[in-house]
Amino acid sequence: MEDNGKKMSRRSILKGAAALAGLSVVPGLIASRTAEAAKVPKAAMQYRDHPNGANHCSKCIQFIPGGSPAANGTCKVVAGSISPNGWCVAFSPKA
Ligand code: SF4
Repeated sequence: MEDNGKKMSRRSILKGAAALAGLSVVPGLIASRTAEAAKVPKAAMQYRDHPNGANHCSKCIQFIPGGSPAANGTCKVVAGSISPNGWCVAFSPKA
């Protein structure tokens, strides 16, 4: 009985640790979903996946690059995958 109680106790601790680990991930998921939901849809910003003259997303202060210079990234303002060669009406040149 005592041995069984110790096993249950260890199991309970492991379950509790797993539950805590899961809970610690939830705020991050909520924050990232909230941040994405707060962004403006591409159509509303007249986003297009080609430049406007010499201006394009990789030159914009709002652009968050992808894994390589040619890869799509994200934008702090516009929702979804953003081409480094794209452009929208919120374009703000890097200083
Ligand atoms: S604000 Fe517009 S131009 Fe600037 S990175 Fe985002 S989508 Fe591209």
